[in-house]
Amino acid sequence: MTADVLVVGAGIAGVACARELVQAGIGVRVRDRARVPGGRMATRRFDGRPVDLGAAYFTVDDPDFADVVDRWHAAGLVRRWTDTFLAYGPDGRRAVPGPLRWAAPAGLRSLVAHLARDLPVTLEEPVTSVGPGPTADGQPYAAVVLAMPDPQAARLLDPALAAATRVVGGRRWSPVLAAALHFPTRRWPDFHGAFVNEHPLLRLVCDDGDRRGDGAPVLVAHSTPEYAARHLTDPAAAGPALAQATVALLELPERPRQVYVHRWTFAAPTATRTEHHHLDDDGIGLAGDAFAGKPRVQSAWLSGRELGRALAARLRPATA
Ligand SMILES: Cc1cc2nc3c(=O)[nH]c(=O)nc-3n(C[C@H](O)[C@H](O)[C@H](O)COP(=O)(O)OP(=O)(O)OC[C@H]3O[C@@H](n4cnc5c(N)ncnc54)[C@H](O)[C@@H]3O)c2cc1C
Repeated sequence: MTADVLVVGAGIAGVACARELVQAGIGVRVRDRARVPGGRMATRRFDGRPVDLGAAYFTVDDPDFADVVDRWHAAGLVRRWTDTFLAYGPDGRRAVPGPLRWAAPAGLRSLVAHLARDLPVTLEEPVTSVGPGPTADGQPYAAVVLAMPDPQAARLLDPALAAATRVVGGRRWSPVLAAALHFPTRRWPDFHGAFVNEHPLLRLVCDDGDRRGDGAPVLVAHSTPEYAARHLTDPAAAGPALAQATVALLELPERPRQVYVHRWTFAAPTATRTEHHHLDDDGIGLAGDAFAGKPRVQSAWLSGRELGRALAARLRPATA
């Protein structure tokens, strides 16, 4: 099958979009610049053990996404983690009940890999330009989908593609540093995860051994956007301070033996759109977590799925 549609980005939005197109019998190719699919549902292995360095967990309130999660659950890919986090603030800490949070024993990236398992995905192949036609790197397609943060899409789009250029321009995206902290032993009380309010460095700390279910002595700390913005050029240099802040917050008796910091320059949009996707007369589609409500895994999946359906409805008569 030749590719009628090029989907740029093998995060959950791009993969959800491509699945819809394949199901509709439309030729599709997915391209990602990374070595593995997953995007911001990122998992890095340390001595063979996966640690989630992007999304910390996901929640579900959409019935269609719930069906997907049920299938992951039946396949043993996800586990119910917790509905209770701690919240730290200037007045101390308290337990805060919330929605059920889901985690993946093999890391959240494994879920995107599972959704992409029978799709034609080409990795380590960045797209460098998208032009009128539409074309991608000079090659014509019936449509080109950009499923990635707005600033990354903006770099690719020819300004002649005015409608899409307008949509991806203007919205600010905030950064985050994610620090994987490997401790010698597990010496903290059960807390699952902790929101950190009004702290100069920390926004969230999660117990990776608890969420993954293997009890490994690993915490993942997410920085505030402001702190990340000051350390984007040298994220590793922020490691000791993030580790020290986590040790002090949780009153831990020992320091981590290994600290790794991942930089997310475009972690989350500072404002989102309620519409599910963008699809214009130039043949450019946009999907991702800047659409469909709050910037999270479920929104990205919904956005990609809806764009896939809209494209299938547009292209099916021409390809039938
Ligand atoms: C630190 C952090 C914490 C988070 N915590 C949570 C959470 O707890 N719960 C939750 O629900 N969500 C969370 N999120 C958000 C969640 O990860 C995202 O909403 C979701 O993964 C976005 O998916 P996406 O497909 O829209 O984009 P992405 O996952 O960013 O996918 C975009 C893809 O495009 C590729 N790409 C970019 N440019 C090019 C190019 N030129 N050529 C080819 N490929 C390209 C990238 O490599 C990437 O794979 C978090 C995100 C971060 C960063």
